Amino acid sequence: MSDDVNPFESLQEQVDDAAKYVDVGEDTLERLKNPERVLEANLTVELDDGSLSVFRAYRSQFNGDRGPYKGGIRYHPGVSRDEVKALSGWMVYKCAVVDIPYGGGKGGIVIDPIDYSESELERITRSFATELRPFIGQDKDIPAPDVNTGQREMNWIKDTYETLEGTTEPGVITGKAIDSGGSRGRVEATGRSTMLTAREAFDYLGMDMTGATVAVQGYGNAGSVAAKLLESELGASVVAVSDSSGAIYDPAGLDTHAVKEYKNETGSVTGYEDASEELTNEELLTMDVDLLVPAALENAIDAELAREVGADVIVEAANGPLTPDADDVLTERDVYVFPDILANAGGVTVSYFEWVQNRQRFYWTEERVNEELERHIVEAFEGLIDAYEEHDLPNFRTAAYVVAIQRVLNAYDESGTWP
Ligand code: GLU
Repeated sequence: MSDDVNPFESLQEQVDDAAKYVDVGEDTLERLKNPERVLEANLTVELDDGSLSVFRAYRSQFNGDRGPYKGGIRYHPGVSRDEVKALSGWMVYKCAVVDIPYGGGKGGIVIDPIDYSESELERITRSFATELRPFIGQDKDIPAPDVNTGQREMNWIKDTYETLEGTTEPGVITGKAIDSGGSRGRVEATGRSTMLTAREAFDYLGMDMTGATVAVQGYGNAGSVAAKLLESELGASVVAVSDSSGAIYDPAGLDTHAVKEYKNETGSVTGYEDASEELTNEELLTMDVDLLVPAALENAIDAELAREVGADVIVEAANGPLTPDADDVLTERDVYVFPDILANAGGVTVSYFEWVQNRQRFYWTEERVNEELERHIVEAFEGLIDAYEEHDLPNFRTAAYVVAIQRVLNAYDESGTWP
């Protein structure tokens, strides 16, 4: 885990790496590496004891060439302006790689939500929504859940926006509860695209997924669903999982459902009694497994740790879990990395389906959602492989960025010049 790597610099390095293979001038490249604008707000909110507290919040709108800005809002003490800028850039290239008609954005509040009551979180969320109101809308910028936010926060933001605007506009935000206009399959979508990417990757590499050993770092929404689906749909053996409190290991394979239930009850995976051993996060990340799924936060694997990674394949469920130096080491060591902007794109892809359903006021079955998601991820995977082979690219991340950058550039060029 590396705290001193700035994720915004990582994003810029990733764009630079891929831009070498794309016909793009220095001036336009600058556009692809910087947000169009960033809102910074200080939310003054009354706490339950009557005192006031100020929370710093951001929304970065990185690029709108392909459609409205799109991306989540996270609540975390580690949120910073540069982190939000990086995450908003990753959204641009994520939406482009799966070819959905959005640009990219991201927001966050510097807060540890565990320290606040539900009513305090509601006031904080509504205060942020009030600040965001002029800048969001179903055709402008569409927020969604991210780390430590979910249906509850999305429903509050929708209600605040609709009340202040005096309208109904469920498509202003995605990731809502089903009865508030959410989509079936949205909660599982990020983990589902991770599973689908792993399936396609193993197939492409000629590896067998049945019985393959898997370690999952992070057992929140993305990691736990990916683990469950890898086990139940592909027959993989999830031997280790972790969260911020530590990791558990069982060479015979863990019961991914039971571990999730245990975490829901106790707040963490550690202490789960059917595991044979407890490990540190670092031990999990360097385990000798067929597949490693980092599903927590940025910079989980730096160059030093990358030298110790024992997995053959990495599929990134988190955003930015590898530093660019780690990427170089893993490329050198022939560890295959399938990047976040494809592997976790299921979340935003089903957000897109939610938005389409909201606009049509016509709702799909879960089966239809999952079928359409699979089609998007498989087609995006094939596009990435085509680019990888055609340009003889060093790794799959660069391939994903080559595809995505080209699409953003096309939209930018086709819209002509504004004097
Ligand atoms: N926060 C998710 C991501 O990083 C989902 C974004 C969305 O649904 O707009 O991709």
